[in-house]
Amino acid sequence: MQFNKCSRCGAFFMTNDSVCPNCKPKDMCDMNKLKNFLEEEGAFSSIEDISCGTGITPKNLHRFLSSDELANYDFSDLNNGPKVEL
Ligand SMILES: [Zn+2]
Repeated sequence: MQFNKCSRCGAFFMTNDSVCPNCKPKDMCDMNKLKNFLEEEGAFSSIEDISCGTGITPKNLHRFLSSDELANYDFSDLNNGPKVEL
């Protein structure tokens, strides 16, 4: 049996997601918010900008930005930006 640790709350769970079933709805909500933000804003200079605009924590943003769901977006500017911090 394989346990995963939730990326949001740290709880252990058994599904194949990166977050536990409790956090899944919040995660999907955040992901939708992020997609809307990216489509509306178009330009953004840092993780903090996106975090302020969406209310999503930088930690979760890093996870979202590297996910397959957002593979269409180019975040190369962000990665090289001086304000990006983990
Ligand atoms: Zn969780």
